[in-house]
Amino acid sequence: MTAVKEIAVKTMLTKTRVPAGDYVINPYAGCPHKCLYCYAEFMKRFTNHAEKWGDFLDVKRCAKKINTTRLAGKRIVISSVTDAYNPYEKKYRVTRELLRQFVNTQAHISILTKSDLVLRDIDLFKQIQNIQVGVSLNTLDDSIREKLEPFASSVAKRIGAVQKLRDAGIHTYVFLSPMFPGITDFKAIIAECKSFAGEFWFENLNLRGSFRHAVMRYISEYHPGLSSLYNEIYRLKDSDYWAVMEKEIAVFCRKNNIAFTSYFYHEKIKKH
Ligand code: SF4
Repeated sequence: MTAVKEIAVKTMLTKTRVPAGDYVINPYAGCPHKCLYCYAEFMKRFTNHAEKWGDFLDVKRCAKKINTTRLAGKRIVISSVTDAYNPYEKKYRVTRELLRQFVNTQAHISILTKSDLVLRDIDLFKQIQNIQVGVSLNTLDDSIREKLEPFASSVAKRIGAVQKLRDAGIHTYVFLSPMFPGITDFKAIIAECKSFAGEFWFENLNLRGSFRHAVMRYISEYHPGLSSLYNEIYRLKDSDYWAVMEKEIAVFCRKNNIAFTSYFYHEKIKKH
């Protein structure tokens, strides 16, 4: 059961140092998708909630319109610490109202989601000159997805969403994020999506938050054969696996003419 309430905020825009953007917009605080590995859990301390992360959702309402003229040429990421198309967006339409403000503007919008609800807004995407819309995906196996991302859309629905977006003329991407060692088969995902995904982004799994134990428990319970690999990477801090993987991705994508961006080790990138 998610505790949902509407809150008034002074602004929707936040300056960011994430590599893909100048500003982020998070239409909600909290995220009912409850991914096992949710990086955004650290945001709970900026809320007044006693509930666990994933069990509350603040619906942001902002009376002030965004000054979109000032954002010409700027990169706006929707959304970084929530999912703009979580199931409550159907009712509250905060994301949709925000997008309306960017129609016919010069801002560069990038949307990332795990929900096929994104298809509802194709009419608005078509009216925004610079926009890319992506889904994140780390497996093609829906039984794995159900464990990792229990309340997000199925693998098939996400892939179907990218296809429909592309068919509508929207620039699309698939974000392999986070890549789970021994589980995420990047070549299989590319093979499945390359005919309609405009580009592929990659990010390795970091285990720095309180979700670390949940992920390690999941691995030992459902993928015991991978326990020693996860121990090497996450307890013994052996970074070779990711160094080799990053190289392999780059070689594969170049050889197969796949447009790609690597966000590996993004924590380090952010610090720099
Ligand atoms: S969709 Fe993103 S923000 Fe929401 S729970 Fe999953 S990882 Fe966290």
